[in-house]
Amino acid sequence: MPETAPPSTMRAVVFDQGSSSRLDRVPTPSPSAGEVLLRPIRVGVCGTDEHLLHGGFIAKFPLIPGHEIVAEIVGYGDGTHGPDIGTQVVVDPTVFCGDCPACKRGQPGYCSSFGSLGCDRAGGFAEFLVAQTSKIFPTNGLSPDVAVLAEPTACAMHGVDILALKPASDVLIFGAGPTGLILAQLLRMAGAARVTVAAPTASKLDLAKRQGASHTVQVDRSNPQVAEAELRRIAPEGFDAVVEATGSISVLEMGVGLTRNGGTILVYGLAGEQALAKVRPYEIFSRELTIKGSFAQAHCIDRALFALQSGQVSTEGIITSAIGLEQFQHALDNLHDSEQIKSVIIPNSTERDARSRVSVFTQN
Ligand SMILES: [Zn+2]
Ligand SMILES: [Zn+2]
Repeated sequence: MPETAPPSTMRAVVFDQGSSSRLDRVPTPSPSAGEVLLRPIRVGVCGTDEHLLHGGFIAKFPLIPGHEIVAEIVGYGDGTHGPDIGTQVVVDPTVFCGDCPACKRGQPGYCSSFGSLGCDRAGGFAEFLVAQTSKIFPTNGLSPDVAVLAEPTACAMHGVDILALKPASDVLIFGAGPTGLILAQLLRMAGAARVTVAAPTASKLDLAKRQGASHTVQVDRSNPQVAEAELRRIAPEGFDAVVEATGSISVLEMGVGLTRNGGTILVYGLAGEQALAKVRPYEIFSRELTIKGSFAQAHCIDRALFALQSGQVSTEGIITSAIGLEQFQHALDNLHDSEQIKSVIIPNSTERDARSRVSVFTQN
């Protein structure tokens, strides 16, 4: 039980059926045996939150979203122990049943009842949340503004595991959002001798360069052939691996053509569930291409934290807004602002504190 009882109600962002979002007062959750009560410190906002708002992915309403969570331990359920009260932790939001055929094969990512805090059960855009004690990872002094990127880094880590590069690979990534930027750095650690990042926004490409990308290519969405020609000049034989991290069908189609014979395309971006891409089976056959997918992550949070703690993955410049629960809509709007990269919510700050933080971040 918590050492000091939390208030009986708390503020939370709640998504309802019909794409509606509200800030409301709801009962504060209490931890059962095996669970921990947490006070969120920073919670990242990502495109998945918007998909959930519109009923996509594994949304279950009413829903408190927020799955990229750094929090402080407030208390434990009966008979449950763990790190000291007040310890800052990253939460692995995934929930696996442990009992289905996939779980029994040691492939929990394919769990038939795969769940996630903030997706099909209460997440972090609230003053408190409950998690399984087995799913918290102390940040060991890592700044919460860095640790909040542990979950997206874990998902990128899983993608890099799936891709399984050979040493000295030549890799192209489409997309310079938080994911593209983190993937570019992880791929260097995982064997890429050259990483080229292609995306529409110049400021994000500059950041990719500062974080170690070898080449960057600006993509004009209305005239992508220019970028395609430039990418072909960079790698006349094609790239060993092409990572599609935008969710765009036309980018995926372009990426297939830019892959070297015998190379691999990684589908990382989230496309619409019913979207169709044109791929020529003869090309896959004759050029012996491999198409792989990467979905969420399982058991990658500890390595993600290590990558951040070691400084091998830089998060410099990735967080562009930090705001309070009151302005959650603003964070959703930022997903469509090309100059914004990652917004984080500070669920327990006052609005004024949060506002002053925004200016701190946007001055960078
Ligand atoms: Zn996310
Ligand atoms: Zn399962």
